[in-house]
Amino acid sequence: MAGCIFCRIVSGEIPATILYSDEQFVAFADAAPQAPTHILVVPRVHVETLLDLDEKSGSLVVIASLQAVARAALPAGTGFKLVVNNGADAGQSVPHLHFHILAGRPFAWPPG
Ligand code: 5GP
Ligand code: ZN
Repeated sequence: MAGCIFCRIVSGEIPATILYSDEQFVAFADAAPQAPTHILVVPRVHVETLLDLDEKSGSLVVIASLQAVARAALPAGTGFKLVVNNGADAGQSVPHLHFHILAGRPFAWPPG
């Protein structure tokens, strides 16, 4: 979608440290990491929230892609947190669905 920062990263128009890509998802390093490892996994197709992800854009294969990113980016056995800030109420600041994979420090629960 024109003007969407994550669509522009997916297309290669804006540089990012790409860590993984497959037919439906691209993973890259977060520009303002909140943990030693902070990866964003985004669908290639512009969908705004998790509820907009359909079979064509990757709803059936998203877990496999998240597993592949975690396996590729983290040493085996490393704990990680998987976060989706879904919608403005949850703090979503970029309106292109993205999964945060965070690792490398202790995490508190519940989230703030
Ligand atoms: P949200 O708050 O929407 O869940 O997360 C958006 C994330 O996107 C933030 O962690 C922010 O640091 C990251 N981000 C925003 N703009 C860019 C960018 O241009 N490049 C990269 N790599 N990350 C970005
Ligand atoms: Zn987009």
